[in-house]
Amino acid sequence: MIQVKKISKYFGTVQAVRDVSLSVKNGEILAVLGPSGCGKSTLLRLIAGLERPDAGTVELDERMVSSRAEMVPPVFRRLSLIFQDLALWPHMTVSENVAFTLSRNSLLRSEKADRVKEILRQVYLLDLCKRYPHQLSGGERQRLAIARAIASNPLYLLMDEPFNSLDMLLKQEMMDLTMALRKECQMAIIYVAHDLEEAAYMADNLVIINHGKVVWSGSRADMIGLTKGDFMAFLRR
Ligand code: ADP
Repeated sequence: MIQVKKISKYFGTVQAVRDVSLSVKNGEILAVLGPSGCGKSTLLRLIAGLERPDAGTVELDERMVSSRAEMVPPVFRRLSLIFQDLALWPHMTVSENVAFTLSRNSLLRSEKADRVKEILRQVYLLDLCKRYPHQLSGGERQRLAIARAIASNPLYLLMDEPFNSLDMLLKQEMMDLTMALRKECQMAIIYVAHDLEEAAYMADNLVIINHGKVVWSGSRADMIGLTKGDFMAFLRR
């Protein structure tokens, strides 16, 4: 479970995140929605341990990992991030991209090879394992980013508008894959969504953020009653 309690972050005089609290249970997806510059990426970076909060805490399965005074390094958080630009390693093949992420794990070489195969099978990339990222289509690159993110068996997955550059069909495919994986791996996922429809399709719960603050939060059932007009009204606050 991811629990964020009253977290705030300043960059100079800009308050990027203000007193935000939220929680995500294992096996659930929380969508985060809000206009550009409202603090979504900063919130994810705070949870990942890439930024230190000025106030508030982050807890992962009831273990405090971030506060103003104390920070557990990102590598010890069992957490993966997928950013918009995917950040694949261009000089490594599909298999090597995934295997490299596993290199910190104390697996035998044969176990590692099996694990790479298993992950590539889950994201339907096994046949393309010898290709380099530039030899993949947009959707295949997205799948590789997911494969790499889940290779280290994370308990928590943070996704920052990961499927924005895809056409509708591929986006749907990637959303379905993410939903299947969270069930299979029982991860707690925070997903920065592009719009209300995407959030309603993917998420168990939703928070809407504006000017660094949570202006609305609710479950999937609550989301159904939200219109585009309501959403725009939250953003004018
Ligand atoms: P979003 O992801 O919602 O587009 P961000 O979290 O990237 O928003 O940014 C929130 C605010 O914090 C913006 O005003 C942005 O300019 C500012 N900001 C983000 N990162 C930094 C930084 N490293 N230094 C200074 N200002 C930053």
